[in-house]
Amino acid sequence: MNDDVGTGLTTWIEVSAAALRNNLQLFRSLLTPGTALLAVVKANGYGHGLEHVARTCAGAGVEMLGVHGAAEVLALRRAGLELPVLVMGYLTATQVEQVVDPGVHVLVSSRRVLDVLGAHAARHGSSLAVHLKVDTGTHRQGVTPDEAVHLAREATRLGLRVAGVATHFANIEDTTDHSYARGQLDRFRAAVAAVEEAVGPVPHVHAACSAAALLFREADFSMARVGISLYGHWPSKETHLSWLLAHGRDGVKLEPALSWRVVVGQVKDVPRGSPIGYGLTFRPTRASRIAVLPVGYADGYPRSLSNRASVLLRGCRAPVVGRVCMDIVMVDVTDVPGVAEGDVATLIGRDGEEWVTAEELAELAGTINYEVLARLSPDVPRFLV
Ligand SMILES: *Cc1c(COP(=O)(O)O)cnc(C)c1O
Repeated sequence: MNDDVGTGLTTWIEVSAAALRNNLQLFRSLLTPGTALLAVVKANGYGHGLEHVARTCAGAGVEMLGVHGAAEVLALRRAGLELPVLVMGYLTATQVEQVVDPGVHVLVSSRRVLDVLGAHAARHGSSLAVHLKVDTGTHRQGVTPDEAVHLAREATRLGLRVAGVATHFANIEDTTDHSYARGQLDRFRAAVAAVEEAVGPVPHVHAACSAAALLFREADFSMARVGISLYGHWPSKETHLSWLLAHGRDGVKLEPALSWRVVVGQVKDVPRGSPIGYGLTFRPTRASRIAVLPVGYADGYPRSLSNRASVLLRGCRAPVVGRVCMDIVMVDVTDVPGVAEGDVATLIGRDGEEWVTAEELAELAGTINYEVLARLSPDVPRFLV
C-alpha cells in the first residue's frame, strides 16, 4: 500500500464493516434458528473500537451486546446505542447506581451484587434483569448449581427479573477432545432445569462462546455469546481443526475485519555490521536500507516481536530489525525497492497479495490472537471502512 489514504495521521486502524457483517451472517446461518446473538464487544471491541463495532452489530440486528464493565456501558449509551447490554464482569455498588437501568442486564455470581441491584431497582421502581452465572467446571466466575437456584429465588424476592442463566466453557479452544465441555453442558442443563423449576421459564439461556458456537449446536440454548470470531478469527488452531475433523471441509469463511497501518517516518542507509536500535541486537550482514516506523509497544505492537515479525510495504514483507521501542519500530527494506518517507506500512492486515495476520504476530510473540487484538491501544484512531 503506497497510496495516500488521506487520514493525515501517523498510525490508524481500519475496520471493515462488511467483514463484521459477513461474520455475523455466518453465525446466523450456523446457529439453530431462533437463537439470539450476543456480540461480545469488551476490550474496546477486541481492539476494533467499541463504538464502530457496536453500531455495526446493531445495524446487523444482533439482539444484545456483551461488555465487561461499567465504563463500557456508559460509552455505549453516550454513543446513543440503545441495544440491551449484558455486563459480564463485576460491578461495585457505586457502578450499579451509575449504569444499571432496565436495558442493562447484569451477570451475577454474588449475593452482595444481587442485594445492591434489588435496592437499586426498589429505589427506581423499575424491574431489572439479572442473569445467573453457573460455574459448571471452569472455576472462574460463577456459583454452583445449588447456589444458582438459591440466588434465583432471592432475585425474585428482591423484585428482580431472572432473565438469564449462563455458563462458560473451560476447555474448548485448547483441544480437539471435547469431553470436558460435554460434562459442563450436562451440568449446565441440570442447573437450568433446577432454576426454571424454582422461578419459572428463563428467556436467555446461554453457554456458547465463539468456539462452541462454531462447533456445537447442542450449546446454542437460546443465545450465543460470540467474540473473537465476530471479528473474523478462529479462536485457535484446535478449534479450526475440530471443525475440519467434523465437517471434512473448510465451510466457514471468517473474514478478519482489522487492518493496522503506519506511515514511514524515515528511510536511511546503514553500513554492513552497524547495530540497529537499543541493545545493539541486530547487525546487518550487508549494507542495508532501514525504514523507521513511528509506532511501538505503547501502541500495542508487542516488544516480543523484536527481530521476529514482518510488516508489509509496497506489497512485500519487510522484517522487523532490532528491538521494538515504545513508539518506534525499524524494518529492513533493502529488498523492497522504492520505499520512501510517507509510504504506508501494514502491521496487521493485507497489502497486495501479502497478509500479516493477528495469528502470525501472536505466535511470534508467544501469545494468542485475542491478546494481540485486545491490547491495541485505544488511542490509535479507528475508521470504519
Ligand atoms: C469474552 C467472553 C466470551 C467471548 O468469547 P470468544 O471466545 O471471544 O467468543 C463469551 N463469554 C464470556 C463470559 C466472555 O467473557
